[in-house]
Amino acid sequence: MQQQPRPDLIGLGWTPFFARQLASLGEAVQPARVLLASAAQHHVQTADGPRLAVVSGRLAHEAADRSALPTVGDWVGLRPGDGAGPAYIVHTFTRSTCLRRKAAGPTVEAQVLAANVDTVFIVTSLNADFNLRRLERYIEVVLDSGARPVIVLNKADLCPDPGWFREAAREIAPAAPIALVSALSGAGLDALRAEVGAGETVALVGSSGVGKSALSNRLLGAEVQLEGAIRATDERGRHTTAHRELFVMPGGGLLIDTPGVRELGLWSADGGALGGFDDVEALAGACRFRDCAHEGEPGCAVLRAVEDSALDPDRLGAYRKLGAERRYLAGQQDVRVRIEEKRRWKQLVKHVRAHPKR
Ligand code: GDP
Ligand code: ZN
Repeated sequence: MQQQPRPDLIGLGWTPFFARQLASLGEAVQPARVLLASAAQHHVQTADGPRLAVVSGRLAHEAADRSALPTVGDWVGLRPGDGAGPAYIVHTFTRSTCLRRKAAGPTVEAQVLAANVDTVFIVTSLNADFNLRRLERYIEVVLDSGARPVIVLNKADLCPDPGWFREAAREIAPAAPIALVSALSGAGLDALRAEVGAGETVALVGSSGVGKSALSNRLLGAEVQLEGAIRATDERGRHTTAHRELFVMPGGGLLIDTPGVRELGLWSADGGALGGFDDVEALAGACRFRDCAHEGEPGCAVLRAVEDSALDPDRLGAYRKLGAERRYLAGQQDVRVRIEEKRRWKQLVKHVRAHPKR
């Protein structure tokens, strides 16, 4: 029997995708969404309200790596704890999307920054911060996550001629909505809010100083960050107002705002690698032809790695898919377009230099 989404969970982002998973689980668990993940305990929200929860020993043991453990935005299954103690997280539902960053250090393990994010606002400001290369990079990382990118051109109040920027952004991302806004004046914010439906989850990314805090405050409303804040009891029995990372917006959408998510993509902002595909990129460096498409060209190191079972063919498939989306987004179907684009970028750089930040 297929379970219908529970009305009280829908506002939290519960969808048939998760309801089906719940129905096929072997054990009875209470679904909850993670508002804040910390090493010690998680703050979660159930249909009955907020709770504190800890990862069960079994789940911690079974998790193949850190990325399998619950993080902010995840849907988890709870089992009641002992008495008034925290509940146990015994299951992490398969994610609909997953924002990740390669973990620092020698391991290739990806760090999951947020789960089940539907839309990402890629925030840039209409001044010297504007950088098409970086914008393109963010779009790649967001597409890689499965979420939908929306380009937010903030500080419109500072820019007398935003048309130029809008066109440039549209060229690298013809499929992404572009919102021209001012967090200062409030212009364009209704259109931005309309990008996030009830029960949908949005995250903000972008460089420091572009106005993410200002936008976040606008989207949440002045006091909403604390509205309905969890009244949790800490270990000493004191009531504390818990810090959260996932917020409910007045219009019904949900907003995830964490320092990690904000900086998403910066690790690769100037590098040549696609987000999360360093292994394939490294192999591609050894292909005979620099522009090798890894589709049967002689001397292709990527296909050789697949033959040698050193590279998972599914991974190559995912890489190709991302590459295709990227080419589409970048409008790089042929060399002529690329050359034209380079020329425009140069013009744009000149334009930005001629109109420095005030
Ligand atoms: P964040 O680092 O991305 O969170 O950026 P902040 O929200 O802290 O904003 C950085 C600076 O830009 C602050 O001084 C804001 O007041 C200012 N700012 C943010 N949005 C706007 C805007 O739409 N117009 C103008 N003129 N300034 C803005
Ligand atoms: Zn190749």
